[in-house]
Amino acid sequence: MDKRKASGVASIALLAVISSGCSARTATSQSGNTDMKTTWGMTPDGQTVELYTLRNSKGAEARIMNYGGVLVSLKVPDRTGTFGDVVAGLDSFQDYLKPPPYFGAIIGRYGNRIGDARFSLNGVEYKLSKNDGQNSLHGGARGFDKRLWHATPLSPQSLELRYRSADGEEGYPGNLDVTVKYTLTDANELRIDYSATTDKETVINLTNHSYFNLAGEGDILAHEVMINADRFTPIDKGLIPTGELKDVTGTPFDFRTATPIGKRIEEKDQQLIFAGGYDHNWVLNRTGNGLETVAKVTDPKSGRVMEVLTTQPGLQFYTGNFLDGTLKGNGRTYTRRSAFCMETQHFPDSPNKPSFPSTVLKPGSTYQSTTVYRFSTL
Ligand code: BGC
Repeated sequence: MDKRKASGVASIALLAVISSGCSARTATSQSGNTDMKTTWGMTPDGQTVELYTLRNSKGAEARIMNYGGVLVSLKVPDRTGTFGDVVAGLDSFQDYLKPPPYFGAIIGRYGNRIGDARFSLNGVEYKLSKNDGQNSLHGGARGFDKRLWHATPLSPQSLELRYRSADGEEGYPGNLDVTVKYTLTDANELRIDYSATTDKETVINLTNHSYFNLAGEGDILAHEVMINADRFTPIDKGLIPTGELKDVTGTPFDFRTATPIGKRIEEKDQQLIFAGGYDHNWVLNRTGNGLETVAKVTDPKSGRVMEVLTTQPGLQFYTGNFLDGTLKGNGRTYTRRSAFCMETQHFPDSPNKPSFPSTVLKPGSTYQSTTVYRFSTL
């Protein structure tokens, strides 16, 4: 756990980069900032991977790499003002090539699963890459998490990433131009704005796959979770939604009142057994299309609080059931349920579920969504 205090964060971080021996070099952002970019590694095909550091006026810090648009670390204060990293990250770029299960990455073209790795649009069937049994998960074998993005710092607190996904990539139709903007605000919020356009009708579902642990250590079972959702989308054994929108009342999926994650996770509930814990999509209660608070997580130990605001209709709450202790980073070992994800999204398998909100993007329209992870303390 990082014990740095708010004061002197920027200078200590810079020293750490230099003394770590990585080939640090500085770059100037459009706003004149000179120490936000370092070279972090090289892709197997010889492209340079950069690591960008965003800092706000409160001493919070986010590190993002242009490979996968991965949020590598996010340091925010606990109730005593001590900064700690609240996301799972690895120590070197090479570790991300193994690859980890989507740690911190931008997910596309389609976050979550598409059943039988296929869908039809206007009578044409598109076959996707199968990378999860018979299904396609998180964009296929080489989704947006394994692509190099073009990065442009917009200010010391904001980074824009762009990627063009070619027509036919991983089986999806249309050239898709994607922009993702990360902003670390002075209110200790990490804001992610997504937008995309296509030249051919396609489907899209973008999200970020950060694994959070508000204590920065241990498991997440004592974290208390509130999800503002009356319904969730039950799944089959392959974790594909059945199409039903099920009432959470009386089930372990009722998080309308803040409840510790561990309280019901071991119940003999078929849905929990299928996924080995929580790994489901909640149908968010929304009043409109704007940015609304949909979830809140509290860690009684550190006092850290994370609120999730989004424009999206769904939230995949995943409790790291498949983490098995083989990954290590940031002085931690990522064991089962040592981190959780809150992936704001459209519902899984929407392209094959006409009753779910549509994920179709047409030429001439712009896909837009925003999610904010807001940090505070008790
Ligand atoms: C999925 C899990 C999967 C994890 C890592 C999550 O978004 O819901 O089932 O294991 O990503 O791949």
